[in-house]
Amino acid sequence: MTFARSVPFFNYPAMFAERSETYMATMHDVMARGAFIMQRDLLSFEEELAAYLGCRHAIGVADGTVALTLSLRAAGIGTGDEVIVSSHTFIATAAAVHHVGAIPVVCDCLPDAMMDTASAATLVTDNTRAIMPTQLNGRTSDMDAIGALAKQHNLKIVEDSCQAMGAKFRDTPAGLFGVAGSYSFYPAKTLGCFGDGGAIVTNDDDAAKEIRELRDHGRGADGKVKRFGHNGRLDNIQAAILRVKLAHYDEAIARRRAIASRYQAGLSDIAQLLLPPAPDSDNLRFDIFQNYEIQADDRDALREHLSANGIGTILQWGGHMIHQFEDLGLRCSAPYAEEMSRRYMMLPMHHMLSDDDVDYVIEHIRAFYA
Ligand SMILES: *Cc1c(COP(=O)(O)O)cnc(C)c1O
Repeated sequence: MTFARSVPFFNYPAMFAERSETYMATMHDVMARGAFIMQRDLLSFEEELAAYLGCRHAIGVADGTVALTLSLRAAGIGTGDEVIVSSHTFIATAAAVHHVGAIPVVCDCLPDAMMDTASAATLVTDNTRAIMPTQLNGRTSDMDAIGALAKQHNLKIVEDSCQAMGAKFRDTPAGLFGVAGSYSFYPAKTLGCFGDGGAIVTNDDDAAKEIRELRDHGRGADGKVKRFGHNGRLDNIQAAILRVKLAHYDEAIARRRAIASRYQAGLSDIAQLLLPPAPDSDNLRFDIFQNYEIQADDRDALREHLSANGIGTILQWGGHMIHQFEDLGLRCSAPYAEEMSRRYMMLPMHHMLSDDDVDYVIEHIRAFYA
């Protein structure tokens, strides 16, 4: 079947085609130098990322999940501790808690998909040690409310900011509210590499030193093993690619925000939809639109209609909030997330979409509800 236009949910080949000559030259340079593990490309990327965010330390790691695990360890979270996580997150958030020996406890989310702090407050026990907000879809949670809850119960904040590099709340970047924050460079992320990659950011010198040891088998700068660590390093070739991409990151985010404004203008009068907050709706926040996640009446029929017109959509987490994986037996309180899981879906959102692509998506959503 041929369509008037095809708007796939994401376009991986286009991501390479965008600057293929630069990427090939970059990889050739790294490989010709034989610079594969912990070489100058990684150090330069870490310095540039820390400068971009205005923080003391950025530490490249193997992926976002390793970043979460090492951040929890650096926050001192371990056996028997309870950590509150949001229902609307990737399973990696809860898995990282589990793998440091702690217990994930799942709270509800709000209509903007962020952690519901009032729900989190009802789940605090004498064993709660940390709260782990997911800065979902490129937006930050209400960090005033989370900060107040953490202070009241003496909890550590460890952010899952894997989707929110460059998002801000009151001018503080996502990732820098707690002990340490995590980013993922999975290809479809706002800063995507050509494989797996991640980083941890922190302003805490001791946490940074511990994380640098943990990602490299527990070895210190002198090569001696100080603690049991992991092999959790960011590959040097990916670091070199990420340096190229970081230099164009602000343009990509500006384009995502412009696309979000275009969706907002084209869809906000449709009563059957709940859109994410518009880019300029909130002067506390700067959202980077990792995803454009809406809630829709007759969602499954809408998705079929869009698919029949060549438009790709996705249900985040395959349509399941983390408490809905019954085999994991997670303790939880999440009625709103339960409801949302039947209505949520993501529209195409990446910086390579044209205005015509976005208008085509809008046109077909309008036609569905007309
Ligand atoms: C992508 C993502 C991760 C993990 O990232 P990987 O790099 O794939 O390990 C964790 N949490 C959230 C919310 C994510 O979106």
